[in-house]
Amino acid sequence: MAEELLSIPNDLRHLRACLLCSLIKSFEQFEFDGCDNCEEFLGMKNNREMVYDCTSNNFDGMLALTNPDESWVAKWKKINRKCMGIYAISVSGRLPPGIVRELKSRGVVYRSRDNSTNV
Ligand SMILES: [Zn+2]
Repeated sequence: MAEELLSIPNDLRHLRACLLCSLIKSFEQFEFDGCDNCEEFLGMKNNREMVYDCTSNNFDGMLALTNPDESWVAKWKKINRKCMGIYAISVSGRLPPGIVRELKSRGVVYRSRDNSTNV
């Protein structure tokens, strides 16, 4: 089933965007499955607090990523290595410093997805 391959929001209410990769899903999906790209690093599964910390309900624009390897939009947004799904163009908010440090120690460089304030 196509719906199962694509990680798209199953509910248009309570949508949140991952602060690390900008993937958009509903709060329940993040809580239930974690982030498809960042679960390894953020561990949001069954952890409401981490979902609140690592996702934001304040984001602008949406784009659908269905062919990560060939999409120029994906290259532009540097998400061409991510899973298929719906992504935010800009996500407001930042990951908590403790989580940024944790990512850094694991070799992940965090770049803010917030394009609205630093233009
Ligand atoms: Zn993510």
